[in-house]
Amino acid sequence: MPEPSSRRGAIVASALVTPTGPAPVRGRSSAEPLVLRDAGVAWEDGAITYVGPADGLPASSPEVFEGGLVVPGFVDCHTHLPFVGWRDDEFETRLAGATYRALHGEGGIYRSARLLSEAEDEEALAFCLPLVREMAEHGTTALELKTGYGLSLEAELRQARLARRLASEAPQACTVTLLAAHAVPHGMAREDWVRVACRELIPAVAAEGLADAVDVYVEDIAFSIEDLRAVAEAAAEAGLPIRCHADQLGPSGAAEAAVALGARSADHLNHVSREGVEALAIGDTAAVLLPASSFLMRGSPPPVRAMAEAGAAIALATDFNPGTSAVLSMPEAVAFGCAWYGLTPHEALTATTLNAAWVLGLHERTGSLEVGKDADLVVLDAEAFRRVPYRPGHNPVLATLVGGRSVVRR
Ligand SMILES: [Zn+2]
Repeated sequence: MPEPSSRRGAIVASALVTPTGPAPVRGRSSAEPLVLRDAGVAWEDGAITYVGPADGLPASSPEVFEGGLVVPGFVDCHTHLPFVGWRDDEFETRLAGATYRALHGEGGIYRSARLLSEAEDEEALAFCLPLVREMAEHGTTALELKTGYGLSLEAELRQARLARRLASEAPQACTVTLLAAHAVPHGMAREDWVRVACRELIPAVAAEGLADAVDVYVEDIAFSIEDLRAVAEAAAEAGLPIRCHADQLGPSGAAEAAVALGARSADHLNHVSREGVEALAIGDTAAVLLPASSFLMRGSPPPVRAMAEAGAAIALATDFNPGTSAVLSMPEAVAFGCAWYGLTPHEALTATTLNAAWVLGLHERTGSLEVGKDADLVVLDAEAFRRVPYRPGHNPVLATLVGGRSVVRR
């Protein structure tokens, strides 16, 4: 049995599957994981010390999961936590024919910003903590937290501090992204907010060590490629990688701009151009796919096969947020990614583990089952990983371990 106090332990399961190769894994090569039958994993001080045949395990009395499949813990590399409150009425209004753009005035991002501003810090944490625990129940061992519901200098700083507090109380490893340009604050010109974001917000966040990356929402209802360039420059000066919400509601050329700027990721990509696909294939920018939000928005899928075949590094995440994707389950994201976006199950595994860890800069400590990495692992009630996308709605997670510490047993 795992010993939580010493963070030492071992498990045995019927099979193990993990991505291999340097991160990020590009294109179709992600279909070549390591697959072991009758497998064992051992760890000490939270780090993996052995991965291999169960009969070679160095530790005695491992915990046995008969019929279980061990995989690396899921890394959710695109979420909008912390937030407060749901917007299911907007979902219903969209089902009746309203567009996301039409609701983006008083509703949408602005509404979540208002709800967050009306909540005390403790209230916000009390809303978010059960959600990150529910993510652990679905196998998430590391995740991104994001700001963007502040919409003023002070409120963005407050949300970033709140994110750091949530990170310290969550069972998982969390990174924080400053979504410096999400929606133009009411009563302010777009270029004025971009100036505040670049000259005041990013330097203040960097000085306080509140964020690990900076993000920009490029869209006709939000910010331009010119704004992305300005924010990327400010982020680079602050030593922070840049990410980008790209080509979600319509084509803008954001993907190729993100690659040209050396962005860590371009996310969404529903309307990415051919040039964008070609850029992602050769650049150092991961394509982060968010099919749950596309599904709930009834959007169209990106050209995923073209991206994979061209050699792009693909990651897959939930986009967990109250407006467009109230989905926090990575197994659900895998199901959407396979059944609708056309990823193979093994591509989806790499996209939700090693490549997602690379997007967050965590690939040296998590994302695959390798000696020396954190013992972040999930045991699934499945013979093969394909069982996960095959059974959407079913939670396949039997156990979740973060750094060898048991956080979920079902
Ligand atoms: Zn997002």
